[in-house]
Amino acid sequence: MNKGRIIVISGPSGAGKSTVLRRILANHPDFFFSVSATTRGPRPNEVPGVHYHFLTKEQFRELLDKDLLMEYNEYAAGDYYGTPAQPIFDVMNQGGTAVLDVDPNGAFQVLRKVPDAITIFLAPPSFQELRSRLENRGDTAPEKIESRLKQARWEIQQAERYTYLLVNDQVDDCVARLEAILADRPEAQQSLYANNTNLDIFKEVL
Ligand code: ADP
Ligand code: 5GP
Repeated sequence: MNKGRIIVISGPSGAGKSTVLRRILANHPDFFFSVSATTRGPRPNEVPGVHYHFLTKEQFRELLDKDLLMEYNEYAAGDYYGTPAQPIFDVMNQGGTAVLDVDPNGAFQVLRKVPDAITIFLAPPSFQELRSRLENRGDTAPEKIESRLKQARWEIQQAERYTYLLVNDQVDDCVARLEAILADRPEAQQSLYANNTNLDIFKEVL
């Protein structure tokens, strides 16, 4: 399984992963977006099979029992999320690009299986901005927003284990920097985690 490449993107809920990836996938119709299985319910704008495979806990357990997931995690002590393995193997064998939006636990499981996966952490500019994005998105119950913000602290502490760090301040800038990484252009160096250790958001989680 080494012809293609895997791009793993993580970041706290509300950081803007879906927004940024929507743009990237529109620019690269040949990329394969890994549709995860989840036991959480669909949001109003989410389409089954496009954004997620929405499953019951029993259906999810069946995937686990049959060893059909490349990785999985229980997120914020609530719902289960996992990456169906076969589509990723197929893309890799065909020399394609698979894009995974998974939490840090999932990212580390993927890295153990595919050590040369490209890992990108998407950070919000601040916690205040993260909270207002989650609130303004308007599809997450207040108590879930609190548990996601709590989870965000731990997630941001994991950013040092990713190769790249992008702050999603302006979407256009963020997409441009992600494109540079995907094309392996020299300016991608500016987005290496090692060159971004001094961000305000890191001071907030200390
Ligand atoms: P995630 O997929 O990481 O949970 P979303 O892509 O759903 O996050 O974005 C969360 C909310 O923030 C959405 O309402 C989205 O429109 C908004 N958003 C995303 N990126 C930005 C940005 N750079 N500036 C302002 N709002 C943003
Ligand atoms: P959301 O409910 O906001 O769509 O996603 C919640 C969290 O689950 C996000 O951090 C997202 O990256 C993560 N996630 C989505 N799909 C998967 C998956 O297949 N595996 C893992 N480990 N995390 C996932």
